[in-house]
Amino acid sequence: MPRILIALLLFMASSQADEAYVPSKTYYGRNHYVEYIAGSLPFVLSAPHGGREKPDELPDREKGTFAFDTNTLELARAIDDELVARTSQHPHVIICQVTRKKIDCNREIVEGAAGNRLTEQSWNDFQGFIRSAQKSVVGQYGKGFYIDLHGHGHADARLELGYGHDRAQFGLTDAELSKPDFIKKGTLQFFALKNPSAYPALLHGPQSFGALMEKSGFPSTPSAAKPIPGEPYFNGGYNIRTHTAPETHFAGFQIESNSKGVRDTDASRKHFAAVFVEQLAIYMEAQMGLKLPLKPKKSK
Ligand SMILES: [Zn+2]
Repeated sequence: MPRILIALLLFMASSQADEAYVPSKTYYGRNHYVEYIAGSLPFVLSAPHGGREKPDELPDREKGTFAFDTNTLELARAIDDELVARTSQHPHVIICQVTRKKIDCNREIVEGAAGNRLTEQSWNDFQGFIRSAQKSVVGQYGKGFYIDLHGHGHADARLELGYGHDRAQFGLTDAELSKPDFIKKGTLQFFALKNPSAYPALLHGPQSFGALMEKSGFPSTPSAAKPIPGEPYFNGGYNIRTHTAPETHFAGFQIESNSKGVRDTDASRKHFAAVFVEQLAIYMEAQMGLKLPLKPKKSK
């Protein structure tokens, strides 16, 4: 084969690899353990702990946390459905279908895959899909927003928003919360560093996502009503920290959702998704200048 033809074929193969994901198509990692719905909105959503499958070929992990985030996979789908209904476009959605007993896609690979080679492949599928989604969003919009979705069983039934800060730190003075070195430890740094004095309000003032959700009927923390989370409180894990690092051009937070009225039934999930999408659109536009082009709701 002439060398020029080989070069051309190689070029075509590599450019194909870059553009492999077609918006609104679903892709799978090895054995369908990880699912990726490719999107075209500037929003990436992942659900690492809602998987129910227990394939024999992946051994149970012996060390770690195994709590199952009931119905968070279904909640992610409800949010996807709502965005499709309101924008005719998908967000990027990454879902792990395998139980947390066998894989933890929100821990570094050593704990998350416990040294098993097949589990490591699925862990890499999950993380790789998030990175591909972010690359695609940055290519299209220059920046994006990311949420890692979980469920907690804490007695205080509210949304826990994880920004990477310990709960006690929310009690610091506004002057301390506004220091760039503090903001850099959090998951909103991509845009929050541009206006440090606004950071306390972003965490628990009227502009915070917690305040927006609370106003719409979903108690949250940190928020205007509960600026300092109680104990226990999940402040954000591996995914949200990794995928909002400065080089990603992404900001985001972790949501630990309570069950009742949020993810316990089909009707709860639908209602939550509708409110969440509405508030997320307000928040992303106000804080990042990113639009989720919501069509007006159809009147019933
Ligand atoms: Zn979780």
